[in-house]
Amino acid sequence: MPPSIAIIGAGLGGLTLARVLHVHGMAATVFEAEASATVRSQGGMLDIHGETGQLALKAAGLYESFLDLVHPGGQATRVVGRDGTVLFANGDDGSGDRPEVPRGSLRRLLIDALPARTIRWGSKLTQAVSSGDGRHELRFADGSIVTTDLLVGADGAWSKVRPLLSAEMPVYTGMSYVETWLKDVDHRHASSAATVGGGALFAVAPGKGILAHREPDGILHCYVSLVRSEAWMSHLDSHDPMTTIARVAAEFDGWDESLRALVTDSDTAPVIRRLYALPADHRWERVPGVTLLGDAAHVMLPSGEGANLAMWDGAELAHALVAQPGDVEAALAHYEEPLFRRSGLAAADAVALREVCFGDRAPDSLVEMFSGSGPAG
Ligand SMILES: Cc1cc2nc3c(=O)[nH]c(=O)nc-3n(C[C@H](O)[C@H](O)[C@H](O)COP(=O)(O)OP(=O)(O)OC[C@H]3O[C@@H](n4cnc5c(N)ncnc54)[C@H](O)[C@@H]3O)c2cc1C
Repeated sequence: MPPSIAIIGAGLGGLTLARVLHVHGMAATVFEAEASATVRSQGGMLDIHGETGQLALKAAGLYESFLDLVHPGGQATRVVGRDGTVLFANGDDGSGDRPEVPRGSLRRLLIDALPARTIRWGSKLTQAVSSGDGRHELRFADGSIVTTDLLVGADGAWSKVRPLLSAEMPVYTGMSYVETWLKDVDHRHASSAATVGGGALFAVAPGKGILAHREPDGILHCYVSLVRSEAWMSHLDSHDPMTTIARVAAEFDGWDESLRALVTDSDTAPVIRRLYALPADHRWERVPGVTLLGDAAHVMLPSGEGANLAMWDGAELAHALVAQPGDVEAALAHYEEPLFRRSGLAAADAVALREVCFGDRAPDSLVEMFSGSGPAG
C-alpha cells in the first residue's frame, strides 16, 4: 500500500508538491483553510527564476502553460532617486530568465492541473497530533479528523504543523510594507505610470523606499517599504486608511510628486503588512512521518525568492518520495538536508539585500548591484 499523504496548505509550495507527485502516479490530499480558490485575491506579480521556480514547473509538466502567463515587458527594472531621476534602467527584451507572472494565475494553473477532489477547501487544520509509528491525527476546525502516514506542513509562516518539529516562531524583522494599488494608470495616474515604466521600479533611500510593479490591466502595485519598529507601525491603523496614507506619505516629504502619488493616490485602502522571519539557520531533527516546505520551513524577508523556493521545495520533496516510495523516512532525510542548506543561504541573502536596498548607501548600493559593479544581494 502506498503511504497516505496529507499536505496542509494550497499555496504555491503545497500545490507544486501535489502536482509533481500526481505526475509520477502518487496521490496526495491537500487540505486548505480557505473556502475556495477564489475567496481571496492573490494579487501581485512574481518573477519565476530559472534555477528554482521554473525547474519546479518543468517537473510539474506545466512549463509551457506557464510561459503563456508571462507578462510581456515585466522584467524591465528601474532605479530612481527621490527626485525621480533615473539612476539605472534595464529594458525587457524578452531574453531575461526571470519572467513575471501574476501570482493568482500561477496558482490557478497548479490547481487546475490536479485531479478533482485533490484539494479539500474549507479544511482549516487546528492541531496535528502524533499517533505513533510515524502517523499523525489531523484535527480540523469543522470537527473532522483524518489520520495520515505522511504529513507535510505547507501552511505558510504561521504553520500549525511546525510545532511537531520545531519550537521556533517567526519574529518581526524590523521592516514592514504598506501596499497600495493604482488603477487605470495610463489615464488616471499618467505621471506615476511614466515614472514606473513597464516593469519594476525601485525608489529607495536609507530606511525606506517605494517599490512598484506595473501589472496587467493598467495597474500599479506598490510596496511602500519602511524599516521601522513594531511600536512605530502600531500607530498605523488599517481601519483608518486616510490617516495611514497621510502618515506614510509624510515619510516621503520632498520626494518627486510622481513617487509620492504612488502612496497618496491609492485607489484601494492601504494594506499594512509587517514582515516576520524564522532564524536563517532554522532546522529540525528528523521526526517520523512529518516535514515542512516553503514559508512553513523558512519564512524570510521578501527578496523575490520565497515563492520560488516554496515551489522548488515541493518539487524536491516529490522527487525524494518518488525515488524511495517504500521508505518515507529515507526520502524525508534526503529532502531535508539540502532544504536546510539552501534556505539558510537564501535567508542570509535576503538580509544582505535589505541592506543593499535600505542601508546607509542606498540607492547607490542598489544601482551598483544591478549594474554588476558592487556586491550582489
Ligand atoms: C509582501 C510580500 C511580497 C512577496 N513577494 C514575493 C516575490 O515577488 N517573489 C517571491 O518569490 N516571493 C515573494 N514573497 C514570498 C512568498 O509570498 C512566499 O514565500 C510564498 O507564498 C510561500 O509559499 P507557501 O506555499 O510556502 O506558503 P503560502 O503562500 O503562505 O501558502 C500557505 C497556504 O496554507 C494555507 N493555510 C494556512 N494555515 C492553514 C491551516 N491551519 N490549515 C489549512 N490551510 C492553511 C493558506 O491559506 C495558504 O493557502 C513575498 C511575500 C510577501 C509577504
